[in-house]
Amino acid sequence: MPDAAVYQGHAAVRAGILVTGTEVLTGIISDRNGPWLSEQLAGLGVDVLGVLVVGDRPDDLRSGLAYFAAQGVSLIVTSGGLGPTADDLTAEIVAGFCGRSLELDAGLEGRIAEIVSRLRVRFPGVDPEALREANRKQALVPVGASVLEPVGTAPGLVVPPGDGAVGPTVMVLPGPPGELKPMWDSAQSVSAFRSAIAGAPELRREMIRLFGIPEAEISVTLRAAAEAGIDLSALEITTCLRRGEIEVSTRFAPAAAGSYDALRQFILSRHADVAFAPDGETVDQLVAEALVADGSSVAVAESCTGGLLGARLTERAGSSAYFVGGAVVYSDEAKTSQVGVPAALISSHGAVSGEVALALAFGVRERFGASFGVGVTGIAGPGGGTAEKPVGLVWFAVSSSDGRSLVRSVKMPGGRAAVRERSTTVAMHLLLRVLRGEGDAPA
Ligand code: ATP
Ligand code: MG
Repeated sequence: MPDAAVYQGHAAVRAGILVTGTEVLTGIISDRNGPWLSEQLAGLGVDVLGVLVVGDRPDDLRSGLAYFAAQGVSLIVTSGGLGPTADDLTAEIVAGFCGRSLELDAGLEGRIAEIVSRLRVRFPGVDPEALREANRKQALVPVGASVLEPVGTAPGLVVPPGDGAVGPTVMVLPGPPGELKPMWDSAQSVSAFRSAIAGAPELRREMIRLFGIPEAEISVTLRAAAEAGIDLSALEITTCLRRGEIEVSTRFAPAAAGSYDALRQFILSRHADVAFAPDGETVDQLVAEALVADGSSVAVAESCTGGLLGARLTERAGSSAYFVGGAVVYSDEAKTSQVGVPAALISSHGAVSGEVALALAFGVRERFGASFGVGVTGIAGPGGGTAEKPVGLVWFAVSSSDGRSLVRSVKMPGGRAAVRERSTTVAMHLLLRVLRGEGDAPA
């Protein structure tokens, strides 16, 4: 009998992703296509079996295709090896794999020649005969395949199994991510692709973000939800720790929407204080929206984060509407001269203290004329820690022009880079809390 607490899988249309390129295999460049394609396929309700990375050797490409075919997938998407050079073999190998011969597509050859002649202006020394050869190679198409028009110079392909043969359809895409993505989009309407994924369920994907609880807590909550009678068997739930937050991501067919709503309510009521984004919003988005909504502004004074918080607050387009500026005040002198932290406060409490964090937040808000000020001061390490103030201890403060403030410290795990990065997340969350009305009124 199926276990109601365990995800039972969707009626599956399965696919494999075959990433080719010796430079990807050896780690010279990191794969940006496999994860992207995986997410796209998941969005279409297709279960992705895996991403396989192989070098540019013909036998390895064939083995990769054969591996996925043996698993019974109905679609394989390949990336790379579509160019004009001799080591670009994907089209030829896929044709063989699908049992189809290659044929010159004269119209396509002409269109490629046109694109290349435009590019040629930049490379006047190139031998025209070699170019013609290269164009012709790229215009060799497996008989019966659909051509995806070039974004760069290389066309992509959708190759169904040869007549009478049983096997996956192969979508062949170029390696450069800037070419692969638009070509994937244009491939969506190709009928050979639609029929390869026909029967994939329409899936919804929802997310809840939480901040400030350990990941293990979520497993406990999921067990409790099942015990409380919520049917989780049609929900594909993934929890992931990212940028210091927990993401609970759920995929489900529309028929299971009731189960998801029940689960969502269960999580939100059990973790009311930490579930800051019931519909998957990012803290960055929520902070930006809250600032814009009441026409307020923010300035930051950073010590251990060295400008990372200012960088994060300006990542979004339109941030000039609410981000006034920031001061990186690393030395004690700079804290005093630039943001007005009293020197006596630093000498009595130390630069890494709640008092100094608050003085940073207050001072930068006043000097920049912002509605909110944020102060961050801590010990990023690896040196500089003491028993009382260990490496990873960071103090945060938010000061609001209406007099409210919030001061917190966190002892963070991890190395220097992790402490600095995580600190920006904590600061964003404290700012959000103050924007949402939390904080202590002045004594
Ligand atoms: P080209 O016509 O440029 O040769 P191609 O389809 O033959 O295109 P490749 O030769 O495999 O593609 O790769 C060309 C370049 O594209 C690589 O050198 C790399 O910069 C980029 N690239 C290829 N595959 C990936 C990948 N999986 N992730 C990120 N970048 C990639
Ligand atoms: Mg190439």
